[in-house]
Amino acid sequence: MFVIPIFLGRSLLAGDSARPITDHTLNRRPAGAYNSNPLKTWALTCIFLLSGALGHLFAESPAPPAPLILISIDGFRWDYLQKFDAPVLKQLAANGVRAQRLIPSFPSLTFPNHYTLVTGLHPEHHGIVANTFFDPALQEKFIYKNRESATDPRWWSGGEPIWITAEKQGVRSACFFWPGSEAENHGTRPSYFKSFEKALTCAERVDGLLAWLDLPPEKRPRFCTLYFDLVDSAGHRYGPDAPETAAAIKEVDEAIGRLLAGLAQRGLREQTNLVLVSDHGMEPVDADHVILLDDYVDLKTIEIDFAGANVGLRPKTGTAEELVAKFRGKHPQLSAWVRTEVPESLHYRASDRIAPVILSAAPGWSILGRDFLRMKRFTFERGAHGYDPATPNMGALFIASGPAFQHGRMIDDVENIHVYNLLCAVLNLKPAPNDGDDRLVRAALAR
Ligand SMILES: [Zn+2]
Repeated sequence: MFVIPIFLGRSLLAGDSARPITDHTLNRRPAGAYNSNPLKTWALTCIFLLSGALGHLFAESPAPPAPLILISIDGFRWDYLQKFDAPVLKQLAANGVRAQRLIPSFPSLTFPNHYTLVTGLHPEHHGIVANTFFDPALQEKFIYKNRESATDPRWWSGGEPIWITAEKQGVRSACFFWPGSEAENHGTRPSYFKSFEKALTCAERVDGLLAWLDLPPEKRPRFCTLYFDLVDSAGHRYGPDAPETAAAIKEVDEAIGRLLAGLAQRGLREQTNLVLVSDHGMEPVDADHVILLDDYVDLKTIEIDFAGANVGLRPKTGTAEELVAKFRGKHPQLSAWVRTEVPESLHYRASDRIAPVILSAAPGWSILGRDFLRMKRFTFERGAHGYDPATPNMGALFIASGPAFQHGRMIDDVENIHVYNLLCAVLNLKPAPNDGDDRLVRAALAR
């Protein structure tokens, strides 16, 4: 049904480094066990070694290394778990570790945050600084919905995603959708990946991932990603409190139940580690809380990199400072900064891909052009994100469940830059340099 690129020429023993060694006991004879009679000791030793060898001969092949599956439920707000019916997720949370909120990076948008989750880098460092943005060096625009942007390594080489860290260290990885997974990264790719296809149902995505786990042990991935966009789509269209959003959560919850059943069928359920995350939350919005760009500036004098909760602007004439002055202090729900003055807490200065002028709306407000609003007024979305990550409704989901993790532990809010180091710790990989630290490793890993 779909094309799974397989890259040959790498070690077939990928993942062996973490395979459990089962014959330690041969080296751990209790002191004094063979001290009664030298002949008896010799005979016993022979029987012991022989039985060990025969045991080895007839023993089943060693258990395959435990898989780690990273699952993103796009737009799953941190409190959906309490608000809505999600029995499978609740059970995983109860048996594992759950953070109160996973705090996204700024801007709290899908592409920047998915890449932060897998690289441990703030968007200003990994370079996917918004869903759409302009690169002055490339003189090109990144557009998240374009296949060219999804597959062109020039956009994605600013960070080392976990699947590349894994492949470089001999751990096969497989991505059933994740922003960045379709692009080569400094000559490396995941062993298996699937190009994004929105039309695939949640169940089909789960079955696609399970098919990878059916590969022979030497080809089987040990790190996998899985991605669901249904909850985000419903949250945008109907709002975070809508029954349609509840229905989307139920469907994703059932799909995760299907995954767990599929793992159990394959004898992998008990050994599999799962990390469930989302990229951001969802804020209720409406067409009455809109700041119109045209009220402050002639749109013909600017380039708009992106708009919505935040706006990235490039002046065609004049300086960034002059452009900021047109907005600053003019609306109580609007902040305006030149890029080098964006508050340090947002970590949004260090890339030339960040527009020279950034506008940011208070939660619940949108910043748009008048024409756009006129076009969209009657289909205006009911939910939005992108706001300051400290906004309570921007909080995302974090659940970790499986033998690597603690059981029944609730932890405080934690920033999503720390997830990469946790994934590396579970897979026993040396992480690439990143913006996170070991706080999530210490809080979540079983001791
Ligand atoms: Zn998203």
